[in-house]
Amino acid sequence: YYKENTQVFLDGNWLLASEATTNLYAQTLHYGNGVFEGIRSYKTEDGVQVFKAKEHYERLKYSAEVMHIDLNYSVDELTKLTYELLERNNLENAYIRPLVYLGENMALQPTKEVHVLLAAWEWGRYLGDKQLDLITSSYQRPNPKSSHIQAKVVGHYTNSILATTEAKQKGFDEALLLDMNGNVAEGPGANFFYEKDEVLYTCPLGNILSGITRQTVFELAEELGFEVIEKFFTPEEVYKADAAFFTGTAVEIAGINSLDGRKFKLKWEDSMGYDLSKAYKNRVTKREYKNFELV
Ligand code: PMP
Repeated sequence: YYKENTQVFLDGNWLLASEATTNLYAQTLHYGNGVFEGIRSYKTEDGVQVFKAKEHYERLKYSAEVMHIDLNYSVDELTKLTYELLERNNLENAYIRPLVYLGENMALQPTKEVHVLLAAWEWGRYLGDKQLDLITSSYQRPNPKSSHIQAKVVGHYTNSILATTEAKQKGFDEALLLDMNGNVAEGPGANFFYEKDEVLYTCPLGNILSGITRQTVFELAEELGFEVIEKFFTPEEVYKADAAFFTGTAVEIAGINSLDGRKFKLKWEDSMGYDLSKAYKNRVTKREYKNFELV
């Protein structure tokens, strides 16, 4: 993730990533109490643009607030620092990782020692370009009554890691996790949509991370005249779907081939998700969504 000359922003300083250090007694390291973001920048016709920086940093502020972490940076400051980070590292199409972590403290209470790290690197689409074979996970997403599920909390990702590891061990590409009621929630690092009879379905907010890509898909669907319905549904309903896809900053829009060995009817190229994936690429690079050839 970093090279010899990679710079990171840490607590007001620009440091070489290879020289930055952390305290071994940091609370985030021991208990997972920290918050983070995953953001992408793209080379566009108007120079390098951080896609939806405001939405990402507002979510970071929300995540910090509900976890009782004092994040004393504004959305504007964080956005400016992000552009500086990209410039200092000569990055265009990059993945940006802001991490807010807590310093030395072994008590079960957030410490006032709050650290802010901004790092970035070049990263291809997280799940690649192949259509994914999913398995319904034996792990549920954390119950929203056990944590702030709409916050991007470091510790929540142990659940994601367990689910992905299980899926891979069983020979699948990725997991699909259910909520505490047995309805489909989301992937380990992405939101889920399926297509049935030319309508898109995704679960409502409440038991999932409120994805910024998910919201972008709502906007693009409206522009393309695609209907999207938010409702709860089970894996059995997904088995009857025509197509499905994941949405997320790291995965972008990733086509899904099958769930639990049941292949979807439509070829990815003939699905609404495919059109949305083209529209998304054009949107993040600020090109016209109708001009698919440009991608
Ligand atoms: N759900 C989870 C659990 C995630 O980790 C992510 C990635 N941040 C998403 C959904 C998608 O969110 P976004 O589109 O904002 O990247």
